[in-house]
Amino acid sequence: MVTLSKKERLEQIIIPTPFAVGDVNVYLLMGDAVSLVDVGPNTPEAWVALERGLAAHGLTPGDIDQILLTHHHIDHYGLASRIQEIKGARLYCHPLSEMFVRRDEEKLKRAVDYFEQLYLLHGVPERVASQAIGHKKLYDDFGSTAEIHGWLKGGEGLPGHEEWEIYHMPGHSQDHLCFYERDQKILLGGDHLIKHISSNAILEAPQADVERPKTLIQYRDSLKKCLRMDIEKVYSGHGEPIEEVSSLIENRLERQEQRADAILDLMQRGEKTAWEISIAMFGERLKEEMSLILSEVIGHLDLLLEQGRVQTIQRDQRLYYQG
Ligand SMILES: [Zn+2]
Ligand SMILES: [Zn+2]
Repeated sequence: MVTLSKKERLEQIIIPTPFAVGDVNVYLLMGDAVSLVDVGPNTPEAWVALERGLAAHGLTPGDIDQILLTHHHIDHYGLASRIQEIKGARLYCHPLSEMFVRRDEEKLKRAVDYFEQLYLLHGVPERVASQAIGHKKLYDDFGSTAEIHGWLKGGEGLPGHEEWEIYHMPGHSQDHLCFYERDQKILLGGDHLIKHISSNAILEAPQADVERPKTLIQYRDSLKKCLRMDIEKVYSGHGEPIEEVSSLIENRLERQEQRADAILDLMQRGEKTAWEISIAMFGERLKEEMSLILSEVIGHLDLLLEQGRVQTIQRDQRLYYQG
């Protein structure tokens, strides 16, 4: 796909997923080390596609020296343990990926409880709020328990690939990393930037005893960080590579502002919970995509709060927003 230097090559392998997002792209980076950037979900179909993709470059899963994760979502890391089982490939990820990748049941349970409370606070009916558990089940079905050999925090070089720098880009997930190659100005963007869909700034439970991360605000900051970088091409976790990087980012930032305005408009007819706003904006889709929609709505409410355009009132253990 791309020859980066005399000793380094980058190849894309497309892996199917059972999720609405469709295929996931994993990247084979061959330099001083043979690395996979993301690996795909833990399904038999994904494994076959990975084996086939590696075979096209004369490799097998046993030839992988290391796995570098952009983030902990199961479509990106699920197959890690199956690869490690063969010859113990090293795995590097952000410290905030740990509870998912090592499957810390206690922390995962705490996150589920946190979401249930958060949903109730935002006006989600009790019987619906318990669906928060569904997210954990996805991890049980398509994730895995993998070994971790080192952390990637951002600011340092990529192990085994000295031309690459690591950037921490929180927003889509708290642990999200992008990898940047200086010479050809290529970014392995994970789910930070996708051409055909706008990435969701997904709500996450705080891992320490701190306030909930304001994911959309973080995501916008990370997008702006990308705007300041000199990027020729982004290879994403899903879909086609992106060449018009700046205009895509500006478009995404503008859409978020428009959505915030639309939410503010809804509040002109009186105070509302995030749940009521979600029903008004997304209707039936809420049944299928509750957690993504609530991330979207609460994220934009965080933005409006930060801009001083709304205020909150807490009554009967529920949070209402007023424009
Ligand atoms: Zn993701
Ligand atoms: Zn993804």
